[in-house]
Amino acid sequence: RIEVTGLKKSFGDLNVLRGIDFTTPRGTSTVLLGPSGSGKTTLLRSLNVLDTPDAGVVRIDDVSVDFSALPAGKAGRAEGRRLRAQSGMVFQSHNLFPHRTVLENLTEGPIVAQKRPVDEVVAEARVLLDQVGLAEKADSYPYQLSGGQQQRVGIARALALKPRVVLFDEPTSALDPELVGEVLAVIKDLASQGWTTVIVTHEIRFAEKVADQVLFLDGGVIVESGPPAQVIAEPREERTQRFLRRVL
Ligand code: ATP
Repeated sequence: RIEVTGLKKSFGDLNVLRGIDFTTPRGTSTVLLGPSGSGKTTLLRSLNVLDTPDAGVVRIDDVSVDFSALPAGKAGRAEGRRLRAQSGMVFQSHNLFPHRTVLENLTEGPIVAQKRPVDEVVAEARVLLDQVGLAEKADSYPYQLSGGQQQRVGIARALALKPRVVLFDEPTSALDPELVGEVLAVIKDLASQGWTTVIVTHEIRFAEKVADQVLFLDGGVIVESGPPAQVIAEPREERTQRFLRRVL
């Protein structure tokens, strides 16, 4: 479960997030839609503390950080790290370690950062690879895979850290069109298995199918939110209608 209240973030004079509030219940998928520059990626990066918000509270399950009152220096960084460990992030392009096999890409984090037992981590990693349809690629290197396969490894790698929520930042936007479907299928699968996900995507038809909740962002605020049958199929707000007319 994610709870965000009063989240704000500026870069210099640019107020990118201007007071964001939302809740995502456990086991649900939330899709962030909005025009370019509306703050979708910044919101996702704030949940993962890759960007540090200026104000507001982010809670993921039992870890909560009040960024308005974040202590300076080491104590603040430790709080940020605790919150970051709650989520796994899947980026536009996968960022796999090029000189490690697929299996090693999955096991490195859990073994080195989380100091979990090697045998257990390897066994779990094989299950995850099977889940994303890449069991037979365990010993391949990233360059030997297609873009879609690499992105599926990226997803499995995020899951290997056992996060409470999985954040996707335009996971298919760097892919050739024919590879988009296989990655979306994996994400849909995760959502139906009860992972809590937040997805930034421009794939509106996919959003319609996978989302329990859609948040439409514009100008750093949530203009409209609700189930896709409302926000996508029957948007109430003029700004949402205009955006959908452009992209559909
Ligand atoms: P897109 O759909 O194009 O990815 P977005 O909705 O994800 O857009 P963001 O990437 O969150 O938008 O960016 C929102 C605004 O903040 C943009 O104007 C962007 O230039 C600016 N911005 C983002 N990151 C930084 C940064 N590190 N420094 C300065 N400005 C930034």
